[in-house]
Amino acid sequence: MDAPALDGTAPRRNRRKVSRKNYDENAMDELIEKQLGGNSKKKYRTKQDLEKETETEALIALSVGFPIDELLEEEIRAGVVRELGGKEQNDYIVVRNHIVARWRSNVGIWLLKDQIRETVSSDFEHLISAAYDFLLFNGYINFGVSPLFAPYIPEEGTEGSVIVVGAGLAGLAAARQLLSFGFKVLVLEGRSRPGGRVYTQKMGDKDRFKAVELGGSVITGLHANPLGVLARQLSIPLHKVRDNCPLYNSEGALVDKVADSNVEFGFNKLLDKVTEVREMMEGAAKKISLGEVLETLRVLYGVAKDSEERKLFDWHLANLEYANAGCLSNLSAAYWDQDDPYEMGGDHCFLAGGNWRLINALAEGVPIIYGKSVDTIKYGDGGVEVISGSQIFQADMILCTVPLGVLKKRSIKFEPELPRRKQAAIDRLGFGLLNKVAILFPSVFWGDELDTFGCLNESSINRGEFFLFYAYHTVSGGPALVALVAGEAAQRFECTEPSVLLHRVLKKLRGIYGPKGVVVPDPIQTVCTRWGSDPLSYGSYSHVRVGSSGVDYDILAESVCNRLFFAGEATTRQHPATMHGAYLSGLREASQILHVANYFRTNPKKPVQRYSGVNMNVLEDLFKRPDIATGKLSFVFNPLTEDPKSFGLVRVCFDNFEDDPTNRLQLYSILSREQANKIQELDESSNESKLSCLMNTLGLKLMGANSVLDTGGDLVEEILSRVPMTSLRAIRSTCKKWNSLSKNQIFGRKATAARKQFMGFMMKDSRLCSIEFDLQGIRNEDGNFVDPSIKQVSILNQVEVSNVFHCDGLLLCVLEDNSRLLVWNPYLGQTRWIQPRNTFLSHDRYALGYDKNRNHKILRIFYVIDRVSGFEIYDFSSNSWKDLHVTPDWEIMPPRRGVSLKGNTYFPAQKRTIAGVGTRRIIKSEDFLVCFDFTRERFGPLLPLPFHSYNVRLFVYLSCVRDDQLAVLYQRLDTYDGTIEFCVTDKIDPNAVSWNFFLKQVIGFTVKPCAGSFFIDQEKKVAVVFDLDVYKKVKQCRYQTAHIIGQDGYFKSVNIGQARDLGRTTGVPSSVVKGFCFPLVCSSYVPSLVQLQINQPQGIRNESHD
Ligand SMILES: Cc1cc2nc3c(=O)[nH]c(=O)nc-3n(C[C@H](O)[C@H](O)[C@H](O)COP(=O)(O)OP(=O)(O)OC[C@H]3O[C@@H](n4cnc5c(N)ncnc54)[C@H](O)[C@@H]3O)c2cc1C
Repeated sequence: MDAPALDGTAPRRNRRKVSRKNYDENAMDELIEKQLGGNSKKKYRTKQDLEKETETEALIALSVGFPIDELLEEEIRAGVVRELGGKEQNDYIVVRNHIVARWRSNVGIWLLKDQIRETVSSDFEHLISAAYDFLLFNGYINFGVSPLFAPYIPEEGTEGSVIVVGAGLAGLAAARQLLSFGFKVLVLEGRSRPGGRVYTQKMGDKDRFKAVELGGSVITGLHANPLGVLARQLSIPLHKVRDNCPLYNSEGALVDKVADSNVEFGFNKLLDKVTEVREMMEGAAKKISLGEVLETLRVLYGVAKDSEERKLFDWHLANLEYANAGCLSNLSAAYWDQDDPYEMGGDHCFLAGGNWRLINALAEGVPIIYGKSVDTIKYGDGGVEVISGSQIFQADMILCTVPLGVLKKRSIKFEPELPRRKQAAIDRLGFGLLNKVAILFPSVFWGDELDTFGCLNESSINRGEFFLFYAYHTVSGGPALVALVAGEAAQRFECTEPSVLLHRVLKKLRGIYGPKGVVVPDPIQTVCTRWGSDPLSYGSYSHVRVGSSGVDYDILAESVCNRLFFAGEATTRQHPATMHGAYLSGLREASQILHVANYFRTNPKKPVQRYSGVNMNVLEDLFKRPDIATGKLSFVFNPLTEDPKSFGLVRVCFDNFEDDPTNRLQLYSILSREQANKIQELDESSNESKLSCLMNTLGLKLMGANSVLDTGGDLVEEILSRVPMTSLRAIRSTCKKWNSLSKNQIFGRKATAARKQFMGFMMKDSRLCSIEFDLQGIRNEDGNFVDPSIKQVSILNQVEVSNVFHCDGLLLCVLEDNSRLLVWNPYLGQTRWIQPRNTFLSHDRYALGYDKNRNHKILRIFYVIDRVSGFEIYDFSSNSWKDLHVTPDWEIMPPRRGVSLKGNTYFPAQKRTIAGVGTRRIIKSEDFLVCFDFTRERFGPLLPLPFHSYNVRLFVYLSCVRDDQLAVLYQRLDTYDGTIEFCVTDKIDPNAVSWNFFLKQVIGFTVKPCAGSFFIDQEKKVAVVFDLDVYKKVKQCRYQTAHIIGQDGYFKSVNIGQARDLGRTTGVPSSVVKGFCFPLVCSSYVPSLVQLQINQPQGIRNESHD
């Protein structure tokens, strides 16, 4: 019987609502050929011809996924045009479509840029380059397996090395693409063959085998399908899977046409109802299964009430379970069909001769080591290490393409562990089962005209068993049938004897064909799949399980630390569970790897230090003033506690080495005060007996400086951080290292573990507050506890502040009423008021710095309607302002702020150039870094920022890392995903800068321009960005928020309190934000002895500075 032809209903395979429009690759070729023709033809084109051609090219580009008059998000991110939405964008689209159509007209050739230059005017040279490069490096042109590509693949890999784990479609696609980009590639594959879940079983005679698919088989939708391109490159014909899919009941009789179409109609209506219901349920639908909702609606609407209808209905449920490789009770009611909008249009096809032909072509020339099951993947700043058995492979980067089932089983150990966010997504997503029985018969007894037929089952629980048969005789070269087993039946199938399964499937076939007088012969060969117990797969393909969503696919695709990348069918939100999805994910990651490699090339990374905390010199310093010294033993303890259980350090100097300090042996141990007292009690005894007490009686182990710092580094810092300020000051003059460490002490002599928390100052409620931000709790199992402690500075509680700047342990506060400036040294408790020459204005920007004689100065920049109109400088020693006569050809646009480092202030600056005349004027802008040198009282040259900023709208913020590095945060406004990126300087002075990448994350929103202060914790590998929460529409209430963003994908927003409404809001969204006090946090604070008294005699500062 014919499949019901109700409009919009499902063909009986794969997803419902597959387009019924017929697509013919050859017809497409003809269309392209006719429209584009050769170059000679183009010479004689009329204007109408050109318009028509542009239209056709747009349609071709549309069919491969490019919107008609918009850019793809990736194109915007790649900065293909300088200005969005204008004429240049339109021109770009025309050029891009032309290139796409040109290549699609002959996917066998490697399209060169020069060929495009022949047909596009040289006026558009920059667009040709932008479009061609984008298309090439993102896998839209020149991808695949054409033998004509060989001359364009570099012989030597010079771009870096990549290990690809898995030679499935994703791994092979990526490997080929990476080779063509010039990488050294090695694929490690656990099986003894390529293809992974695409596996063509060669059945029958070796020489005249029949090709039957045990894994991925149908190319689902040919439009824009890269597998269609591969087939054309290899000249492999495709066979359209015909819609005719008769259904047989459990007795073998053809199902009644009317009942069939009624139930199918009812089934599709119920699916539509599910969509309505989940919209009504909003978030609640995430927690329930599609199965639950469907069954409730079935009962409610009285669909499939009698047992025959019920069996038919079950068949459709089984079909759904097949499409999703998951039991309906597991599929998310809210998101099970989230990928529907991206479904490839066009026919579903089989590849003549089997998919192995594609796989073989893809694997050819790719270096693959088979039988190499990867056990461990280690990744870090220095590169990656992959362990398989006793072998170790090293590379710059790794692409992991193993199936989700393998990730779920945690069969591969990742070191460090995968980010929790990724692991959680792996756990949430579903990975289900579909099994097959492939049978080779001596003859085609089912009739030539069929590609599929379905069978109903007696019981619901068994609905998925052999519910659908694929006939492969048209493409496999012989009489082969494949029976599908889906849903719960697929689970039971895994542990049932093949002979039992064969018996059941033959019974079914004989039940159908026997009554028709057709003899079902005994099979020649049978194969049963076991995808669920396959240790290199652990299932068939992914689905959106209850509690999960499409976002989890995106999270799976995220790379980690720019070293570890992921591809595979479960990493694509648009095309999961498909062969083409896997292939496209491989192309995607190859582009991503190229992008990162380019970045590393221009921003080489410094090797990371093993232990970045206290160093050995600090130990030396610590023992300069021991708490107890007895013979060769000396002890230091936490000075703030007498608790006998509190820990300290003991150092033993060994006699023979003592006289030669360069060759002296010193060993250390950690012990408690009471243990130290025990040793001290032996005061009169020899060093030997003290040592014996330490090692034998107390059982302590002596270790070298490195080991004690590794095990007791925290303790050392703890002790240092608790040394009272007064003692520190005394020590400071004699000991440079100690000085640098003690600088981390903040006023108030609080017990603080200096290295473990950020300490600085911020604005809150227009008052100056100290802020300590303890990040120790992040990534803890018990709830990611972070502890920001914000306290108003009591001695300034009368002062309302609108802005605050920091330099050298001094804070420059701008008063809310702009009447005066206040400089405050928190360490010495001194303040100094600074009066304006005339007036201060609300738009003024300030910077605090000092010259080479440590004279402190303030730079004031004043504006007229957002344009810099002048500069003046205040000198602390003369207590006066003077004009600064500089006329830079760049701007420091408010609200951008400078930060001071080593006495000078660095600003994000913008240079604008105007090209053209009259209405055709184009303003081009570019961002730079510029330093104000307080010694020369001049700005330095424009320095590069670590990102491309030409005509890009972006936010740039600066911050200091300790007191020797600068960090930059930047966010483009035209990437709608809110990608935020941080870099830290490698080298910085007023005339030169070089940058290192720190972290990048998609956070999904843009930081508010007036806020945006941040700090970086290099040890924890996080950045903390202070922002104003504006998500709630009500303007009565805003929250100051700290977003903690980690290199490993960690993200957490911490509410740090309600923002004060300054009463300036007008209702315009931007002013709503500006109307609240934003949390401006100064870079990490270091105490200072700078005296603020007026006319302070020179030379008072006798401390040593690093
Ligand atoms: C029964 C079945 C039917 C399907 N039907 C269709 C269909 O009709 N149409 C369609 O489009 N899609 C179908 N699919 C889905 C499609 O086959 C997959 O989505 C696609 O092949 C996945 O490719 P991949 O590269 O992501 O993963 P895989 O092909 O699984 O590749 C991953 C590779 O990693 C290897 N590996 C795993 N662990 C390790 C390790 N530790 N070390 C080294 N190597 C390892 C594996 O051996 C494998 O080769 C079907 C899948 C199955 C199982």
